[in-house]
Amino acid sequence: MKSFSPLFDELQRSLQVLPGVGPRSAQRMALNLIERTPSEASKLATVLAQALRDISHCHTCYVLSESETCQICADPKRDAHRLMVVESPGQLMAFERAGLHDGHYFVLNGLISPLDGISPDQVRIPQLLKRVGDGVTEVVLALTSSVEGEATAHYIKAQCPGVTLTRLARGIPMGGDIESLDPNTLELALGARESWS
Ligand SMILES: [Zn+2]
Repeated sequence: MKSFSPLFDELQRSLQVLPGVGPRSAQRMALNLIERTPSEASKLATVLAQALRDISHCHTCYVLSESETCQICADPKRDAHRLMVVESPGQLMAFERAGLHDGHYFVLNGLISPLDGISPDQVRIPQLLKRVGDGVTEVVLALTSSVEGEATAHYIKAQCPGVTLTRLARGIPMGGDIESLDPNTLELALGARESWS
């Protein structure tokens, strides 16, 4: 197809970085943004630029945050001695949406994977161990049931003697994406979490 607007083509290509968006949906989105909702599109561009500039990570739990300490870590009503370890900000959001955890979190940068050459250092394990040493009494491991999730859980366990470790019950399907589980399943898995020692 002959290009009628190189900028439009560029916009369409850029939208394809979004998960699940192919050329056809990108074209539909681009047309919609430019033709039907130009003022919302302009707002989107501004918010996106601001978000990219200002959002970083909480220095304590590594969730996305605009300040050094996120609102969860700064909340005095939450129990800082109970730490839930998740592997992505999306998983933290799933637990927060479901209102299931009133302790603190630690967000790993993925999971340890010896086969892919991903070492503990690359997923923030040293930072996690430092955080655990800072008065944590229970660590709840909410990691995906997969080879990598197991490797990560075992590594953390070996490095945290003297701390109560629990894991989500086996209600989480093998390889299941915690982020997309419904609140009821999450609640069951968390409520029936198993001590692991
Ligand atoms: Zn935080």
